[in-house]
Amino acid sequence: MPNNNCLDGIWCSECGSEEPFSIYARAQFVVYDEGTDEFTNVEWDDESVCVCLKCKNTGVVKNFKRDQKEIDFKEKTHDPDRTVREDRGDAD
Ligand SMILES: [Zn+2]
Repeated sequence: MPNNNCLDGIWCSECGSEEPFSIYARAQFVVYDEGTDEFTNVEWDDESVCVCLKCKNTGVVKNFKRDQKEIDFKEKTHDPDRTVREDRGDAD
């Protein structure tokens, strides 16, 4: 299933993984002397560093968004009945 929540539209074009990713994000933490507690306001954008935890593919978030690479990847890997088109020229 494609991601449609926190990782909406994000996937790894190297290994096909849709989660998990390590993303360098900004967040607001409740901090005690012992360390951090809850956090809110997590934010990242297209330029935030993103690492696929399955294959260690590293880039920025925009490199992991769906685009033509997804179509190429799916055709390469999940297309059992590829249709071969014969180019016969004009049938005039
Ligand atoms: Zn990956």
